[in-house]
Amino acid sequence: MTVMDTPVLIVGGSLVGLSTALFLTHQGVRCTVVERQPHRSVQFRFGGIHARTMELYRSVGIEDDIRAAGTDNEQSGGVARVRNLADPEPQWMTLPWDGDAPLLSPTSFCMCPQDRLEPVLARHARRRGAEICFDTELRSFLQDDEGVTAVLVDRADGTERTIRTQYLVAADGVHGEIRTELGIDRHGLGVLEHWMSIIFRSDLASQLAGRDFRTVFLAEPNGSLVPRADGVWQLAVTYRPAGGQRAQDFAVGHFTEQRCLELIRTATARPDLEATIVDVMPWQAASYTAERFRHGRVFLVGDAAHVMPPTGAFGGNTGIHDAHNLAWKLAAVLSGAAGPELLDTYQAERKPVVERITTEALLRLGSWFRTDRPGMPSGTPVNEHTVMFGYQYRPGAGTFVDPRSRPAPVGTRAPHVPLDRDGKQVSTLDLLGSGFTLFAGPAGRPWCQAAHRVATAAGIRFDCHRLSEGDSECATAFGITPDGAVLIRPDGFIAWRSTSTPDDTEATLHEVLSRLLRRAPQGDFLTVGELPAICHERGHDQ
Ligand SMILES: Cc1cc2nc3c(=O)[nH]c(=O)nc-3n(C[C@H](O)[C@H](O)[C@H](O)COP(=O)(O)OP(=O)(O)OC[C@H]3O[C@@H](n4cnc5c(N)ncnc54)[C@H](O)[C@@H]3O)c2cc1C
Repeated sequence: MTVMDTPVLIVGGSLVGLSTALFLTHQGVRCTVVERQPHRSVQFRFGGIHARTMELYRSVGIEDDIRAAGTDNEQSGGVARVRNLADPEPQWMTLPWDGDAPLLSPTSFCMCPQDRLEPVLARHARRRGAEICFDTELRSFLQDDEGVTAVLVDRADGTERTIRTQYLVAADGVHGEIRTELGIDRHGLGVLEHWMSIIFRSDLASQLAGRDFRTVFLAEPNGSLVPRADGVWQLAVTYRPAGGQRAQDFAVGHFTEQRCLELIRTATARPDLEATIVDVMPWQAASYTAERFRHGRVFLVGDAAHVMPPTGAFGGNTGIHDAHNLAWKLAAVLSGAAGPELLDTYQAERKPVVERITTEALLRLGSWFRTDRPGMPSGTPVNEHTVMFGYQYRPGAGTFVDPRSRPAPVGTRAPHVPLDRDGKQVSTLDLLGSGFTLFAGPAGRPWCQAAHRVATAAGIRFDCHRLSEGDSECATAFGITPDGAVLIRPDGFIAWRSTSTPDDTEATLHEVLSRLLRRAPQGDFLTVGELPAICHERGHDQ
């Protein structure tokens, strides 16, 4: 048995686990990822990367590689509701990622299925120092005041090794055992529907008749049809297990190759269609949120913390946003720049937002698939951009704010504004570093001077940008007065705003940072009872 050390152990090397590794290594934190599976599945779950998530990947320099791996070309068409694929009059639906996106972000939605995205994430995380071990399983773990001891098993040869880590991130998915091991319950509507996803290869050119679909919602059978790359399609259909039968057992017995072929032929309205079944995978549309996202030194991220129906394509995106929220906090605490209480803000910020986003996924499930179950929320869904760009971190409340609001409120994502720099257009988001960023007004030189001194003293990275008189659009978007300033957190959220220059800018910034990082000004940590609000506004009410 060998003993090794890693600052952070991530259990689950799928979408969210690998994203956590990427964001942590970007922050300079070494980590180890263990994934039970020896290789990736051909099944497609996560596919649609929202523009906000692309911003996160862009901030760590991998946007181009993701686009190169994506399938935007193969799936450039529209979304339609049809009876079956022969329906001559598809009801075209508005693409959720259309419209305002180009104004809101320097990047855009990308279709990149999980099986193509994960190798990109793994490659970049490894290049930055993450150790990623496939075919390796977490067998058990035990935490104490100083860290976590984890027993890992190499599934190829059965050897065990013990890792000592300071923090454990559970990215082990909806069926992960870490949450149950910790005794953390979850609440929600539970399993709402059973689905079978059938991956098949066939030539559907004659049925498509030149029409370009990205997703087709079908009435016959009740489900959806999605083109994947290279002539591969995914048909997803709902099913009801017979009374008293386990859904999995029912699915295995019911979805024979012949039955799958029949369903494909019904969906395409081609009784003689030739198709090769590549894979089948049962899954459930479910809604759960863990009661807690943290237990001591263990953090739940992604589907381990929350599950929502895929309607809206929010689940995986939300998990990646969890990872991004947690990574800079772990980095700040591990480096000693922040007090450990900063880690409490992970749950305080993410859980209310996750619950609000889950409601949005349920509203879409109800209206798109006419799902009607007791407890389903009612109302009109808010648009996708508000869900993904507009959530606001406020203690205890999952709130959406229109991402076009000016000025962007404290607690929301810093807005994208194109700026002219040396004759080139850059986005404000591209000016954000991996640490804190301060934008000051044209008369805000004292802010920038103070920021450098505070950063040096605190041992943190601090980028400072002073706006020019011509940057009025940016000043309006960020709410920056001529001698005011706005502080952006390492995850790109507005942490604090001042509408004037105080007498002692250095002392002010020092105090603000101390509070944000949960340190007392003298370096003593604040106690939990003294925790200030997560984000602060100075100068006017928010
Ligand atoms: C049909 C469908 C379509 C979807 N489409 C979208 C979409 O377009 N956009 C979107 O945002 N979301 C989508 N989702 C949701 C999205 O797929 C999930 O939210 C996302 O995959 C969750 O990722 P994860 O990394 O948290 O969990 P998972 O992908 O479930 O990964 C967990 C990993 O942990 C590993 N693991 C578990 N226990 C251990 C252990 N003890 N030791 C080692 N490894 C372990 C597992 O092997 C697994 O690989 C969709 C879901 C479905 C079902």
